[in-house]
Amino acid sequence: MAVKFFLVMENFRLTSSPFASGEASKVHVAGGKGPYANTMAALEGFDLSPAKGKRVLLKPNAGRIAARESGICTHPEVVAAAIDAFREAGADVAVGESPISGVKALEALEETGIAAVARERHCPLIDMDVRKPLLIALPDGVAIQSLKLCPEVAEFDIIVSIPVMKTHMHTVVTLAVKNMKGCLWRRSKVLLHMLPQLDSYDGKPLDMAICDMSEVLRPHFSIIDGTVGMEGLGPSAGTAKKLGIVLAGADAFAADAVACRLMGICPEDVPHLKLAAERGFGVLDTDQLDVSPADWMSMARDFAPPPNDLKIEFPDVNILDVNSCSACQSTLTLFLRRYKDVLLDYLPGDATFAIGAGHDDIPPGAICVGNCVKRELRNKGIFIPGCPPVGSEILSAVTGMPSVDVRDGHVGDSSEMEAEKT
Ligand code: SF4
Repeated sequence: MAVKFFLVMENFRLTSSPFASGEASKVHVAGGKGPYANTMAALEGFDLSPAKGKRVLLKPNAGRIAARESGICTHPEVVAAAIDAFREAGADVAVGESPISGVKALEALEETGIAAVARERHCPLIDMDVRKPLLIALPDGVAIQSLKLCPEVAEFDIIVSIPVMKTHMHTVVTLAVKNMKGCLWRRSKVLLHMLPQLDSYDGKPLDMAICDMSEVLRPHFSIIDGTVGMEGLGPSAGTAKKLGIVLAGADAFAADAVACRLMGICPEDVPHLKLAAERGFGVLDTDQLDVSPADWMSMARDFAPPPNDLKIEFPDVNILDVNSCSACQSTLTLFLRRYKDVLLDYLPGDATFAIGAGHDDIPPGAICVGNCVKRELRNKGIFIPGCPPVGSEILSAVTGMPSVDVRDGHVGDSSEMEAEKT
């Protein structure tokens, strides 16, 4: 039986931003100077003095094991500039992350180079998955009524969301609002991908859940890294996209709306942003925002959208996906790009994959990818354990060839997940 050991907070929500001023939310975009200088330039128009004497938690996107400038994680020089800027304002700054399932925060921060710039500055790095979570209530939640939160989020005075500009196969984009999902404790963030369909909303329950989350987890300040973003099959299996820009704003919805426009995406077409705007959490119409410089749209570059369905990229395999998360989707995508032809030599004309927790049944012989596939179904096919699994182990299981590591993110340590399921 699972042991409940979390602390409960009934009325938690992040306070409103102390950096907001004026009637229209301000967003400043900077480009052409390199990631550190662009970040400093983007921050120039903001009075960061409310951070004086405060504890500031910088929350980059370092949710996967990925190299600097791969477009997957926040550029380390952007984080370096944020550390310096908030320290200059008199804040006590730390950097924290809770990555995707199976990834260790400090390894991810190390790989992307964020750990190195933090160490140079003697800035603490926090693995936000280590301590006991807080259970927070969402009394107005539509898709979710509670969240398990990394405790640091409630202990710091100011939270700064520092995502990288990416498209996302499930949520269209992942920017400052969605980056706060990385403040949810360990595997609890995956549960947002596994919600049942809502009676009151035809779209994905994940989008409604992110909207619910954003009511209580709205960052106090946002810095969006467009140094090298990702287009297509983001958040990790897409194509790196160089923009060479950084934008900043006190309001995460305003910052996300501007970032969307810079990516050639209408913010109203991003369901979690649209839902949040309908609830009055923010304004997405950039004409109603105070965006600078005046020619900011000259820095825009169209991002290729994420495909609606993995089957479009791999029409000759059958992918059954019910409530998976992006980690298994990325693992499978990267695996198929590399090994599909070899696999089809072994499984001519009938390669079926099942990913996700929502299957009631699967065809006999299906390749069940990831620990989420129900135990009672795994014996009907070939089970590839892991959360997420190692891609090359799929090939190894089918062909008997030795496994070659082609990790997306990291090898999953399934022990935690298995423990939670019991
Ligand atoms: S097994 Fe796959 S789909 Fe399930 S939580 Fe792990 S990575 Fe996500």
